[in-house]
Formats: sequence, structure tokens, C-alpha cells
Amino acid sequence: MPIEKTNTIWMDGKLVPWDEANVHVLTHTLHYGTGVFEGIRGYKTKSGTSIFRLTDHMRRLHRSAKVLMMEVPFSVEQLVDATKQTVRENPLSEAPLLYIRPLVYFGYQEMGLNPLTSPVRVAIAAFPWGTYLGEEGVSTGVRVKTSSWQRIDMNALPPQVKSTAGYLNSVLAKIEVLKAGYDEALFINPQGTIAEGPGENFFMVREGVIITPTRTTAGLDGITRESVITIARDLGYEVREEGIARADAYFADEAFFTGTAAELTPIREIDDRLIGEPGPITKKLQETYFAAARGEIETYRDWNEYV
Ligand code: PMP
Repeated sequence: MPIEKTNTIWMDGKLVPWDEANVHVLTHTLHYGTGVFEGIRGYKTKSGTSIFRLTDHMRRLHRSAKVLMMEVPFSVEQLVDATKQTVRENPLSEAPLLYIRPLVYFGYQEMGLNPLTSPVRVAIAAFPWGTYLGEEGVSTGVRVKTSSWQRIDMNALPPQVKSTAGYLNSVLAKIEVLKAGYDEALFINPQGTIAEGPGENFFMVREGVIITPTRTTAGLDGITRESVITIARDLGYEVREEGIARADAYFADEAFFTGTAAELTPIREIDDRLIGEPGPITKKLQETYFAAARGEIETYRDWNEYV
């Protein structure tokens, strides 16, 4: 589905018309993947549009930039304000679900691998965007296949950094499994345990216990992952962070993905092994997460940042 156009995109401090939000073809990041970015969701709530954990996303963006030694010319607070301005000044208040894409990239100045001589540029776009893995996926679960591509090694291209370069690995896995007729991929990391999906963190449930890969083996330190762990523990479930073998995932009673775009999407099958319809724990967590994102739960009010 093509991106639904809005009026303006925030670029380097000002809102520019959507069709003029362009870059030079010799932009460093376009050639070498030297960008960092975020994916953030906005929700229509009873009290107006709320952006889910906006400040935490902008903090992660700054952390990603630090690894590339990229000096972001705007503070976390400035990026939070810029995002709110972008959402406010575009006709988005009626959209039930928004997606916000901040991107920090090295612009056009010098050719060659060293990016540090090029200007650091920032763009923030906001547009309506529905459920990533489909409405049906959210309600009945998706069919997942382990990719033949391994997740990037943390000492080669850290998956903890949300970098544009890192997503080539995700794209390869995504294409592979779509061509094979599945909905989503699952990555194994170089240590041989389950890492994550190409755009989601992985969870499974066995005998009432929720299990997810540890932070160092999970890939991206997902904000949805952390939110769901918090919700699960508040609901009284035991959550364990540990290495998960591929075969262990086949034995799961329930499994699901978490991510800003995917929200909480149940997994119905892994490598043609049936996990089943979304189970009770998955449904409870999904329902609570959706309510929290829509500002309906007092305990999680801090996660709702209103524009
Ligand atoms: N892993 C990968 C590779 C991702 O792209 C994402 C989406 N940002 C996630 C996990 C989930 O992270 P979050 O919950 O912060 O969106």
C-alpha cells in the first residue's frame, strides 16, 4: 500500500511541503547506509492524538547516533517538540493509527567512507498507517518461517542500533519468507538462538511462563518489548529473559511478536509447526497493550504523550 500523503514533513528545523522533502542523490547515507531512525506510533484517543513513548523513542535515536559518532543537531526535547508540531500541523487528528518516521542521516558533502565530515540532517514524517502485519494477523495470528539469513552479529553491525544499514539484513529475510508464502520471518542469531523478527521482538509462552530472548541476544531493545514485559509482570505473570533454541519455540503453547508497527501480533505457526490460535495470555497482553497505547489505563499514562 502506498504511503498516504500528508501536507508537510519536518526537515532540519522547518516544515517543508511533502513533495519538496527531497535529498541530493550524493547524500552519504544513501550510498553507505549511515543513517539511524525510529518508528513511532500515534493513536487517536479520547483526549486527542497520543504518541506512544515518544521521548523514549527519541532517546533511543540519540543512542543509535552515538554508536555512529553522529552528532544529532537537535536534543531529545527538540525532537519531541518537532514531532508534536509535525502531527499537529498536518490533518491527522482523525486517523486512528499514525506512524512517525524520524531519520537522522549524513547529507551530501564528501565522497568516501568517513561520514564525519558531512552535515548531519534530520527529517520527521508522520502519516496514517494501519496494522503492519494486517488486521487478520492481529486477530488470528501470522505464519512465521525461520530465515536462512542469520541475524547480524553484534560485533559486525550491532542490531541494538536502529541503523538504515542493518535493515538490509531484515529486508533479505522478509523477501525470502514472503516469496515462500509466509507472513513474517524469524531470525536466528550467530549464537544459534532465536533473535527477533525483521521488525519485531519475539515472545513465547510455555506452561504459563512468558519467555523472551535476553537483551543481548534479542537484537533491538524494543520499546514495545519493554512495555509488554512491564504489563505482563504487572498482571502477575512470570517473565523470563533467556536464550531460546529454535526447537523450543516449536514447543510453545503461545507465541507472538511485539513492535511499534506490528504492535502485538500473535504467531500461529513457526516453520509449519502449529502453535495454534492466539492463546489466553497473548490475548490478555494484546488487549492491555492496546488499551495502554490508547490512553485507557491510568497506570501507563506516562506512555501517552499528547500532541
Ligand atoms: N526488532 C527490530 C529489528 C525492529 O525493527 C523493531 C521495530 N522498531 C523491533 C524489534 C521492535 O522495536 P520497538 O518495539 O521499539 O518498535
